[in-house]
Amino acid sequence: MKHLLGSKKGDKVKKLDQVKNYLSKYGYFGPSKDGCFQTSSSTSNDSNILDHAMEKAIKKFQQFFHLNVSGILDEKTLSLMVKPRCGFPDLVNGCLIKHGVKLVRDPYKSGLFYMYGKRRWSKLRLSWYLAAGMRSDAINPITYAFNSWQKVTKFNFIRSAYRNTDIQISFTSYLSEDYYPFLQHSGIVAYAQLPPSGKLHFRADVPWSNGTRPWEMDIETVALHELGHVLGLMHSRDPSAVMWAYTRPGFIRRKLQDDDIYAINALYNNFRY
Ligand SMILES: [Zn+2]
Repeated sequence: MKHLLGSKKGDKVKKLDQVKNYLSKYGYFGPSKDGCFQTSSSTSNDSNILDHAMEKAIKKFQQFFHLNVSGILDEKTLSLMVKPRCGFPDLVNGCLIKHGVKLVRDPYKSGLFYMYGKRRWSKLRLSWYLAAGMRSDAINPITYAFNSWQKVTKFNFIRSAYRNTDIQISFTSYLSEDYYPFLQHSGIVAYAQLPPSGKLHFRADVPWSNGTRPWEMDIETVALHELGHVLGLMHSRDPSAVMWAYTRPGFIRRKLQDDDIYAINALYNNFRY
C-alpha cells in the first residue's frame, strides 16, 4: 500500500480517478481471471491508499517508460501522463505476452517492442484514402510516411480518390465514434487500429504543421508512427523508436529507426510468404 502525493483529499481522489482511467485506457489493468493483473477494485474506503492492482499498474507503466519503478505516483510519472501521446494502448490486459501478443527482443540492440502475432495484412498491395474535405497540406507528409514504410518492407501503398480503400485516414473533430477516444483523453493527438481495420485518425483540433514550428505537431512524424499500428505494430519501449508512444509539439522523427525496421520485419517474418 502506498500513499499518494498531494495536499487536499478532494484533489487526491480526482487525481487517483484520472490516473486509474489513464492506466486502464492504455492497457495496464487486466481482467481478474486472466492470471495476469487484477482489475483495480475500490474496496478501500481510504482514498489516499492505492490498492494492490493499482500499484502494480503504476509499476508496469513506470517499467514500460523507463521510470523509477516504485509504484508511487511521483512527479516524473505524473508529468509523463499529461504529455501528448498516441491513443493506442501500450499493453494488452496488463500483460506483455498474452493471447497472441508476442514479446520480441531485438538481438542487435537493447530495444524491445511488442506486437500481435496474428494481426497483420495478408496482402502487400494496400490502397489508402484521405477523407474528402480534409486538409490538403496533409497529403504530402502522409505520402512521405507511407514511402518510409514502403522502403523497408515489401508493401506497395497506393493513394486512391475513393473511399473504399484498405487504409482510411481522417482528421476528426466532430462528435462521432471515431472522436470519442479524443474526448475522453485530451492528451491523445492521433490513434490507429491494427490490421485489417486500416483506420487512422488525427485529432483535428490539434495544431498540425508540415514543418518545424515548435508549437505545432508535425504531420509526417505522427503519420509515420500511426502507420506502424496500421501495419500491425504496437508501442516500443525504445525511446529512440518511431513506435515510442509519446510526442510533443515541434518534435520531428521522420526516419524509421532500427527498432521499427526490426519489428516490422519480425511481424511479417521477413516477408517470406
Ligand atoms: Zn501509437
